[in-house]
Amino acid sequence: MRRISIFGSTGSVGCNTVDLIRRAPEAFRTVALTGGRNVTLLAEQARSLRAEVAVTAHDDLLGNLREALDGSGVEAAAGEAALIEAAGRPADWAMSAIVGAAGLAPGLAALEQGAVLALANKESLVAAGPLMMATARAHGATILPVDSEHSAVFQALRGEAPGAVERVILTASGGAFRDWTAERLTEATPEEAVRHPNWDMGQRITIDSASLFNKALEIIETREFFGIEPDRIEVLIHPESLIHAMVGFQDGALLAHIGPPDMRHAIGYALHWPERQALPVARLDFAAIGQLNFSAPDEARYPALRLAREVMGAGGLTGAAFIAAKEAAVDAFLERRIGFTEMAVVVERVIEKLSGVGLGKAEITLDSVRHADQMARIGAAEAVGGLEAESERVWISQG
Ligand code: NDP
Repeated sequence: MRRISIFGSTGSVGCNTVDLIRRAPEAFRTVALTGGRNVTLLAEQARSLRAEVAVTAHDDLLGNLREALDGSGVEAAAGEAALIEAAGRPADWAMSAIVGAAGLAPGLAALEQGAVLALANKESLVAAGPLMMATARAHGATILPVDSEHSAVFQALRGEAPGAVERVILTASGGAFRDWTAERLTEATPEEAVRHPNWDMGQRITIDSASLFNKALEIIETREFFGIEPDRIEVLIHPESLIHAMVGFQDGALLAHIGPPDMRHAIGYALHWPERQALPVARLDFAAIGQLNFSAPDEARYPALRLAREVMGAGGLTGAAFIAAKEAAVDAFLERRIGFTEMAVVVERVIEKLSGVGLGKAEITLDSVRHADQMARIGAAEAVGGLEAESERVWISQG
């Protein structure tokens, strides 16, 4: 029996992971499940998987979690320290599916006890790729990609010499606003941004898909995971989301990974790696699909792609600041304080401001990442305030 833990089990990736585990209860023993505000679901999952411990990130919800787990024999805990303690309990395989910068510390804790870490939380690699990789090496741990694009690249690279890779092509659906003009994008609302045409995902990553910030993170993730130089990583709009990524080799061959837009493929691949096992995903009928479409991304409409390259160029803690500024910008957009296209303006202002304090040269540790995160959130709050004041001025001058 393999011991497994799921960080962020109540989210979209987490629930898909629980679904796969539930299908083979005899193969797995659940150590830790962690969630955020949804303690009802967390308790239900912990009961059904007979977890050792269930942890909510929120101290104020400990009472509710305890009540929901009453009589189950599952330990209940709350808060960041409890989450990291649970993540560090010995497990053979752990899923890192917390959203955002909060996923870094639990992921590191799992690596420190030598687990195979299935990494959906791309933010960890963007903020602290070298730290994640060094921790895995030091403790004999393994990191497996779960993002569908990176799982695709990982599968295409199996058995290939790293030196034979010429380029990696990441596909992007183009998100909710694929066909919108730059002018219309300025009017986009949070309700419109959370509707993804192909994938059923958490709220934040769906907004990041619409702004292409998700693809920006994935470019950096590709560099950190596979050591591919930034100028060899391309992005291609592919509305059908069936080809997840392609790897081009020096002999001109391209290996494409094709499958339905269902995260249970990438999660299941990481769960059963290095074997392949049957998975409950749809099989594609190419005759029915008929055609696949591709186009180049419009970098003028989507500045996130350019920002990703600037972040990689700057290095150091710039990735950590990028993640935090982007998270703060998404919050401000959800609160209707800034417009959809202003999210990129906020991130750019923060990166510009912090580049002056030597962020690019700083050493990456958990503490320095947290510090850069705080500085970026302060910078983002100022930038959001500045944009609000600017729009107020426009409003008054128009009125
Ligand atoms: P969701 O928003 O659906 O779920 C996030 C999970 O993290 C939930 O369990 C949530 O708890 C928990 N959580 C939220 N905030 C905190 C916090 N501060 N501390 C601890 N736990 C917290 O996200 P997704 O499942 O969509 O995404 C998870 C990660 O996987 C992200 O990094 C995303 O980029 C990546 N990813 C997602 C894909 C997808 O298809 N969804 C595809 C590829 C990558 P609760 O809900 O109980 O509040």
